[in-house]
Amino acid sequence: MVPVLSEVEVLVIGGGNAGFSSAISAAESGARRVLVIDSCPEDWAGGNTYFTAGAFRMVHHGLADVLPIVNNVDKATASKIDMEPYTTANFADDISRICVGRSDPVLSETLVNDSNTAVKWHTKSMGGSSSGAACASRRRMAERDWSRITAAKRLVVDPATKAVGSVIVEDATGEREILAGAVILAAGGFEANPRMRSQFLGPNWDFAKVRGTPYNIGSCLEMAIRDVSAKQAGNWSGCHSVAWDANAPPNSGDRVISNEFTKSGYPLGLMLNLEGKRFVDEGVDLRNYTYAIFGKAILAQPGHAAFQVWDSQMTPWLRDEEYRDGIVEKITAPTLEELAEKCAKCGLKDPSKFVETIKEYNKAVAVFQDENPGHKWDPAVKDGLSTQSSRKQLALPKSNWATPLTKGPYMAIKATCGVTFTFGGLAVDHETAGVISSATNSAVPGLYCAGEMVGGLFYDNYPGGSGLTSGAVFGRRAGRAAAAQAHNGKNPQRFSARL
Ligand SMILES: Cc1cc2nc3c(=O)[nH]c(=O)nc-3n(C[C@H](O)[C@H](O)[C@H](O)COP(=O)(O)OP(=O)(O)OC[C@H]3O[C@@H](n4cnc5c(N)ncnc54)[C@H](O)[C@@H]3O)c2cc1C
Repeated sequence: MVPVLSEVEVLVIGGGNAGFSSAISAAESGARRVLVIDSCPEDWAGGNTYFTAGAFRMVHHGLADVLPIVNNVDKATASKIDMEPYTTANFADDISRICVGRSDPVLSETLVNDSNTAVKWHTKSMGGSSSGAACASRRRMAERDWSRITAAKRLVVDPATKAVGSVIVEDATGEREILAGAVILAAGGFEANPRMRSQFLGPNWDFAKVRGTPYNIGSCLEMAIRDVSAKQAGNWSGCHSVAWDANAPPNSGDRVISNEFTKSGYPLGLMLNLEGKRFVDEGVDLRNYTYAIFGKAILAQPGHAAFQVWDSQMTPWLRDEEYRDGIVEKITAPTLEELAEKCAKCGLKDPSKFVETIKEYNKAVAVFQDENPGHKWDPAVKDGLSTQSSRKQLALPKSNWATPLTKGPYMAIKATCGVTFTFGGLAVDHETAGVISSATNSAVPGLYCAGEMVGGLFYDNYPGGSGLTSGAVFGRRAGRAAAAQAHNGKNPQRFSARL
């Protein structure tokens, strides 16, 4: 017999955004004892959520709808902002387009339709603004009792009720049982597990650098599939991955530098692999629609690395938080040839090809500009400034923001692939976030799921800011349903008898 550690109405596994959204929702819905457990030590509190930029994607009606939930826009700044509404149709179209038409229609409709109210609820519940909500959740996490690092190991189904009635966990003292009226899984994906990355994402994914917590190792996905035949859903060979500093640590993010290892300034310049060749259309879409797939493109290159390159006209436009002095190793030189020689010391195999590729690109830009005099560069929209004209086309275009790299000094940085989170997960009921059984094709009583563990929303790519919103939308639903299950479910007798 495993000793009983504790008895609660709702047990939440995982202390990130989805876990705390679920826990708060369960408490608001009347659950009396809600316990959040996490397998990480205090130093890693907050899971991947700790590392986020705090961006939430939501439907809104324009600036007046958004201002009350942000804390970084004063009146003077607000008066200078033009913000078109972002409609349900806009959000739905973005998911459909970006996720190649494969996103589960019911789940994505739920995410879109609920996004505005869920983000506002999240903001209120976490206290402050949506961008501040991640910080608030960190604060709540910091207030936790860190004496117990508790990893979920097994789900136990009550044979009488067929509901999940407890979880076997492991802490410093060994295995213990936590009895629960309902259980919510919010333990992240398998992005920090090199074996599972290789197994599901494919060869070479063990080379990717982990952007966030090292504790999202897929253990609760495997637990649910093994113990209750949870149905698998979504894009198990897909993940969110970005251009990431090649000097970042390999197996986890850095809690201080955090998101600043991201290197998303490629729309302003070019990306060349170690053979000196371009391999993506750097301007195919706005940064928020390409940044989550270009990590994968870099991973596929020789040496799993690439150089991002700009001339002096574009370096002032790079995001300070990603490219400022001291945050990244800058390679600079007055000419392209000297830049190539310096890059060669950092792994570039073919400096001549590097220079040739940039010069060929410059020629294509010059012909486009000659054919389209007055066509203006505009980083805020897809400006159509491209390498493709009637007289010259590149085999691999740059479709927007194609300016020549002709004014030294030039700058390059070396990037690799940083994996953010995995897309494969568990099938859930859209109303309750209840985990679906592959055996019965209906919800497993007493078991819910939110956040990265939900499968079926994202395929191939991801519209930036949707992860936190998904955690709020489905965490809130999971919390409500779990509280109701704990009170009215099939095992109240067992629960109240022991309380
Ligand atoms: C650098 C970076 C920047 C990002 N920026 C954004 C952004 O701006 N906007 C956005 O929408 N998304 C962003 N994301 C993605 C975002 O982090 C995730 O979508 C979201 O935070 C996931 O929340 P979660 O609660 O599902 O998982 P997490 O926040 O990762 O929490 C999961 C928790 O489960 C715990 N756990 C794992 N296994 C067990 C176990 N067996 N037992 C107990 N506990 C366990 C882990 O320790 C972890 O604390 C970013 C991610 C990174 C890494």
